Amino acid sequence: MEEIILISYLNDFIFCPISIYFHKLYGAIDKSLYQTVSQVSGINAHKTIDKQIYSDKKNILQGVNVFCSEFNIMGKIDIFNVETGVLTGRKNKIVKIYDGYIFQVYAQYYALTEMGYNVKKIKLYSFKDNKNYNIELPSNDLEMDYKFRKLINDIRNFNLDDFKAQNVEKCRNCIYEPSCDRSLVIC
Ligand code: SF4
Repeated sequence: MEEIILISYLNDFIFCPISIYFHKLYGAIDKSLYQTVSQVSGINAHKTIDKQIYSDKKNILQGVNVFCSEFNIMGKIDIFNVETGVLTGRKNKIVKIYDGYIFQVYAQYYALTEMGYNVKKIKLYSFKDNKNYNIELPSNDLEMDYKFRKLINDIRNFNLDDFKAQNVEKCRNCIYEPSCDRSLVIC
């Protein structure tokens, strides 16, 4: 059976495909042992959502598990307002809108749509500076939608044995570097 892809893996895979392997490996270990300060901060921004305390309004879905059979992906949605149809992806601080951010909200969009919700608008919200960024729906940005579908295919077809790291800067900034045998960092 085709393996389910977690929505949280999409951004990781873009950074480095092997990071998904480490993500799975360290998933069961105390996270504080290997997370960087910025990651912990980002996770704290999500805590209110994960605990589903962002809002107790009935028309707001938050931190709800969703699944999309079309792409065989699952994860949690950040915030979806059923009444207005606005889906909001929440980040700690957005300094640049990375493709991975968009693909994560696309995955949430496709799952909600498959569940019968009418998603009319997508936003990214930067918690620290209280800024909103509008994101086109996949149907209005076919190039990004194509890239999203390609990413899902790339994850499915990824072969760990063939992978060679290309970017030493990524390795320098990678939390998994000390454990990674493909790292380009020379001690
Ligand atoms: S150290 Fe480099 S090759 Fe290894 S997971 Fe990190 S970015 Fe990828």
